[in-house]
Amino acid sequence: MCIGCREMKNRNELIRIVRTPDGAVVLDKTGKTSGRGAYICKDVNCFMKLKKSHGLDRSFKTSIPESVYEDLEKEMSES
Ligand SMILES: [Zn+2]
Repeated sequence: MCIGCREMKNRNELIRIVRTPDGAVVLDKTGKTSGRGAYICKDVNCFMKLKKSHGLDRSFKTSIPESVYEDLEKEMSES
């Protein structure tokens, strides 16, 4: 489920974001990173929604570094 629009999507339409066991938050481009995951559509509208609402911070119960949002934005503009 996308944490931006809350719709169920296929995995290939989503980007996985992972909070690793040591507390770092990273984009999981391989699908193999272990940790607690959240998904967002490859859709800039979902991204904007998420960024505005700080939904990621809430999902992971931590504050998300700006670099994670920058990585996400880059990932979306490439796909
Ligand atoms: Zn979405």
